[in-house]
Amino acid sequence: TAALPLASVRAEFPFLDPPDHGPPLAYLDNAATTQKPRCVLDALVDYYTTANSNIGRGFYELSRRATTRYEEARAVVRQFLNAAHDDEIIFTRGTTDAMNLLADTFAARIVGPGDDVVVTGMEHNSNLLPWRRLCERHGATLRVVPASAGLPVRPEDLAAVLGHRTRLVALTHVSNVLGTVNPVRDLVRVAHERGVPVVVDGAQAVPHLPVDVREIGADFYCFSGHKVYGPMGSGVLYGRRDLLADLPPYQVGGGTVKGVAHHAPVSYVPVPARLEAGTPDIAAAVALAAALTWLDQLGRPAVRAHDAQLVRYAVDALHDVDRVRVVGDPAADPAGIVSIAVDGLHPYDVGGHLDRHGIAVRSGVHCASAFLDELGLLGTVRISFAVYSTTAEIDRIVAALRTVRAGEWTTHYPGVRFR
Ligand code: PMP
Repeated sequence: TAALPLASVRAEFPFLDPPDHGPPLAYLDNAATTQKPRCVLDALVDYYTTANSNIGRGFYELSRRATTRYEEARAVVRQFLNAAHDDEIIFTRGTTDAMNLLADTFAARIVGPGDDVVVTGMEHNSNLLPWRRLCERHGATLRVVPASAGLPVRPEDLAAVLGHRTRLVALTHVSNVLGTVNPVRDLVRVAHERGVPVVVDGAQAVPHLPVDVREIGADFYCFSGHKVYGPMGSGVLYGRRDLLADLPPYQVGGGTVKGVAHHAPVSYVPVPARLEAGTPDIAAAVALAAALTWLDQLGRPAVRAHDAQLVRYAVDALHDVDRVRVVGDPAADPAGIVSIAVDGLHPYDVGGHLDRHGIAVRSGVHCASAFLDELGLLGTVRISFAVYSTTAEIDRIVAALRTVRAGEWTTHYPGVRFR
């Protein structure tokens, strides 16, 4: 695989070259959100400059143009995920929005008293709380496939938790805490052998791995645009056509109905419009398509190779730093995330120390406190990479961690648990 042309990739990100020319920030919190390339910023400005109007409603040229751009964006997403049909792509506000949509529509219909829903022990709250609330509301039980070592969930461990009352499996493709890559295709197969549908949280996978929804075979697959170089407020729910076709609306309102009369039953339009009530963030969808097209041009194998190089470099370099321990085994199947624990120091102390060295990382439980409990940790310091990340930035982290002197290894946050 050809390597990423790092200098020219970095030149595409205005964020990396701030107008005040201050000391360079090492932005290594890309699992939280990525910076945006010029083509995405341009797509936003271009949309608002040349096509801004509401979609699907106006009988005039400008509105037709906006509608066309929005539907073209849907086609780009379909292609990116290798879905079979454009109407299998629903635009959402992000992964959280997509999971709540599924819990309130698809799952609410099939989960009843005495049933269960299965998740893994490594879920982000956004792929945990919608199912937990659903179970509470419907008298069902949430079952958890243990993930205490943080290693990939094994198909046999999922099989052991599936029961004859399991109605749904929801699992993450890549852990946002440790970067663990789950064998989703095999996990989906195990669930399908028992007739159980599967929802996959792809929020941390889409920025790093080639994702082919037909190869994975999941019934639903969700991701957030802002974590894959797209704008805030953009996200995607992929669903198999036959399953989506059957779903009731999530939110109701403009754009979802064929017509409404006060004393007649309401009839809803087909998907995707039925599941996209109200005015969507059209510009965000258009700019997300620009991001995905751009990423595909870089080449997803090259992105994967870049990730692997950075993760392995970081794991090697951190190995030699006193009191620092890499959590899990991120180098086994690198997905752009390396989480560390520092002996005797709270993750917030480490985060604060790195911040003073111009390094931005995420510290704490990463919206996954239940998983951190399973790992037996108060939190981690998460270093997460993007296409513009460099080994020089890793060198800076290592150097900063080495400057913590003995006397400073005391925590300001003894035992405190953070989000
Ligand atoms: N799932 C995972 C694995 C994530 O990492 C995140 C974002 N941290 C989410 C879900 C939620 O995504 P969003 O906040 O964009 O809805």
